Amino acid sequence: MIRGTVAIVGRPNVGKSTIFNRLIGERKSIVDDTPGVTRDRIYGTVEWLTQSFHIIDTGGIQIEDQPFSEEINMQVDIAIEEADVIIFITSAKEGVMTDDMAIARKLQKSNKPVVLAVNKADNQELQMAVYEFYSLGLGDPMTISGAHGIGLGDLLDKVIELMPKKELKPYEGITSFCVIGRPNVGKSSLVNAILKEDRVIVSNIEGTTRDAIDTPFKVDDKEYMIIDTAGIRKRGKIYENIEKYSILRAMNAIERSNVVLFVIDGELGIREQDKHVAGLAHEAGKGVIIVYNKWDTVDKDEKTMNAIEKEIRAQFVYLDYAPIAFTSALTHSKVNKLIPLIDEVHDSCCMRIMTNVLNDVILDAQMMNPPKPHLGKQLKIYYASQVSVEPPTIVLFVNDPELLHFSYSRYIENKLREAFGFVGTPIRIIARKKS
Ligand code: GDP
Ligand code: GDP
Repeated sequence: MIRGTVAIVGRPNVGKSTIFNRLIGERKSIVDDTPGVTRDRIYGTVEWLTQSFHIIDTGGIQIEDQPFSEEINMQVDIAIEEADVIIFITSAKEGVMTDDMAIARKLQKSNKPVVLAVNKADNQELQMAVYEFYSLGLGDPMTISGAHGIGLGDLLDKVIELMPKKELKPYEGITSFCVIGRPNVGKSSLVNAILKEDRVIVSNIEGTTRDAIDTPFKVDDKEYMIIDTAGIRKRGKIYENIEKYSILRAMNAIERSNVVLFVIDGELGIREQDKHVAGLAHEAGKGVIIVYNKWDTVDKDEKTMNAIEKEIRAQFVYLDYAPIAFTSALTHSKVNKLIPLIDEVHDSCCMRIMTNVLNDVILDAQMMNPPKPHLGKQLKIYYASQVSVEPPTIVLFVNDPELLHFSYSRYIENKLREAFGFVGTPIRIIARKKS
């Protein structure tokens, strides 16, 4: 479970991105596989002991047409607004600089928990520089070295200690969903269209997390909650066009949802930026529906829908489980199909398969297509058990977990989907050594 969001701030070259990369570690991300994404990756998830949190390197948020000092200033604003804990990075090599003092003053006023880290403290001599940093008035500075990986464990302990005692999670007993996508794909129009389809809006709940506005509504006595990603909308500030800023918002909204509606602009077609968004949706382990919006603008004949579906499948291979809806928020075409689809997907996410039924399917799958031996050893699956839902997680008890190959696990997943449906939900398959 995600505890919250941590932001890294500091002036350029103190080592923010070095530390960011260390903290998110080697955890392979689908988003990273997209060419051109790794370079500017500035958000990720940190797992530390039993805890995890989102992290953003605000140094990577480029704010165009602003003088340099104003850019840092706005990065700090975003951190203060979005983060539960802020890591403020300085450099032992350069000591306290004017920009450090300016950042410190803002952070002091914010009342947000701050961890002051003095980076580049590569050796004992440099570690002595730490005393100077008490003058920033942000408590005990911690010495770290991003380059050498020194002090990062202590840093993470401190971050966890300061993290508010809450978790980002969906409401209990209500199907919660969010609508994510690049700017202008039609997210807010879709939300309005969904709500206008004669729904009873229960009441607005303001500020469950910061200024997100969650809208509860009922359809035939069943309760739903729209988790808003676009609190930014109402403020209409400069932030609006900062994509990376809205991605952070999206990450939090996804975490608080059961089902994610990932919207593509049908008028423009699939864009590179859509892949970041799709990757986020998939990695969170939530139910996903792909919404191809602005369908009214598409020149179509009877082949168009199939062709577009093919293209979507080719571009978002890992989202192969997500159903696709073709909508128009403008004309409301097919918007009424979304709620039943959300229900279906949420049900799949929560589906529990009885152990004996599950084992029948896995046994059959193994008999039909036994795993290929690897280095002279053959994987043996003794039995399987579903250990959790949202997403459905299946543990395979095997002779040697190393022998479970990605392709075989994929095969098992497909067999499970054939047998049980699991529409719109990722499935996690874990191999464990049978004791
Ligand atoms: P950012 O601009 O704050 O994101 O800083 P970078 O992470 O890009 O780092 C700036 C420079 O400092 C790079 O050349 C890094 O290799 C270097 N650097 C980062 N951490 C350390 C460290 O712990 N010790 C030393 N000596 N150099 C570091
Ligand atoms: P958001 O930034 O993703 O929330 O997008 P908006 O809901 O603000 O929509 C961006 C623009 O696209 C607006 O001008 C909408 O009127 C328009 N739009 C949204 N959905 C549709 C649609 O289904 N068809 C057409 N033709 N225009 C749409």
